[in-house]
Amino acid sequence: MDPQAVFCSNQACPASGKIGQGNIGVHSLKERRYKCDVCGKTFAETKGTVFYRLRTAKDIVVVVVTLLAYGCPVQAIVMAFGLDERTVLSWQSRSGKHCQQVHEHMVEQPRDLGQVQADEIRVKMQGFIVWMAMAIQVQTRLWLGGEISQHRDKHLMRTLMQRVRHCALCRPLLLCVDGCQAYIDAIRN
Ligand SMILES: [Zn+2]
Repeated sequence: MDPQAVFCSNQACPASGKIGQGNIGVHSLKERRYKCDVCGKTFAETKGTVFYRLRTAKDIVVVVVTLLAYGCPVQAIVMAFGLDERTVLSWQSRSGKHCQQVHEHMVEQPRDLGQVQADEIRVKMQGFIVWMAMAIQVQTRLWLGGEISQHRDKHLMRTLMQRVRHCALCRPLLLCVDGCQAYIDAIRN
């Protein structure tokens, strides 16, 4: 446990969100809890992470979520790890929400993007298809965001361009797309 690497998770505390202020100490090594000297509250090491209040070991959760991310069927994971299907699905949903928060916090910051490319791929699921639209900053290869929809329509392009907008400073910007008319309208908007 490293008290220098965490901040107080109590949002009402004046020290909330501030790292390396010396106010956090280890409250219990056995229970893996920290304590904040400013507000006096204790909190679990895993508070604010995907592992909070899970009873399964971290490394198993990481392996399962990695397999899901690479397209491994849920049923294969259920059989291989002896897990309940609902457990696997809840880890997937939790991880997705957490990744989205991290993305919005770290990537969706205004920057001089220069040039952005956007495109969609057709993803074949069991019994249906979805479209996944993604945008990348060319110079840094930073993925700015992705959106999923059952239809390749103006709504999909518009939500993707809104993500790009969250990442962009008000500077000249070259956007390269596949020529789909819906993009032009979304970009102008
Ligand atoms: Zn505190």
